[in-house]
Amino acid sequence: METIADRLRKIQGEIAVAAERCGRQAEDVTLIAISKTHPAEAIREAWDEGQRIFGESRVQEALAKIPDLPQAIQWHFIGHIQSNKIRKALPHFVLFHGIDSADCALAMDRIACEMGLRARILLEVNVAGEATKFGFDREALKQNMDSLLALRSVDIEGLMAIPPAVEKPEDARKYFVSLRELRDELVSTTGTSLPALSMGMSDDFSVAIEEGATLVRVGTSIFGRRPRPVVG
Ligand SMILES: *Cc1c(COP(=O)(O)O)cnc(C)c1O
Repeated sequence: METIADRLRKIQGEIAVAAERCGRQAEDVTLIAISKTHPAEAIREAWDEGQRIFGESRVQEALAKIPDLPQAIQWHFIGHIQSNKIRKALPHFVLFHGIDSADCALAMDRIACEMGLRARILLEVNVAGEATKFGFDREALKQNMDSLLALRSVDIEGLMAIPPAVEKPEDARKYFVSLRELRDELVSTTGTSLPALSMGMSDDFSVAIEEGATLVRVGTSIFGRRPRPVVG
């Protein structure tokens, strides 16, 4: 049977191949092992194989697992975060991928400031304009970007997207392109650097890497199918 270690090695290989194919370095792509719903033992197996960055999408679930696992793990928060969970989450996560509205960014800023912390964040963009999805509308983000960049306790490192489910990985390419183009436009209009592009999951991370992903979020292909569905 394929172990978590086997799968991790395979994915690392696929990341390297995808990077090489488009003239990028494998080191420029960071694999985040998305461990939501999986137990601490599974995370430890990946840790033992050298994986250091893990992603969770529920504060309560993550806070229950974190104390049982090596302190050196870098935890990323990948989901939508409710404002009443920010205070609890802030000290534990090095990067928040799912900052999906100006209100959310403002709440992060205010709470980080109160706690004397800095919050590293990515802005989530609703790339397909889906009514049911979280995320900034692209036009709204362009309008808001200057005021978001002026927040003093958050560092905006880039953009993140969860494109709609598609049949073939190739069908997701246009959404990855659109996130990259939006990033490039924001960089040129604001003069700030936004190096991070968090895009690509189990089925389509190779395509995302070809389109510039710096952070890929892979769960199922490492840990197997999730025991229960998770929203967000
Ligand atoms: C669950 C989740 C993933 C991982 O998805 P897989 O298809 O299992 O690789 C990636 N990103 C986000 C935001 C998620 O919630």
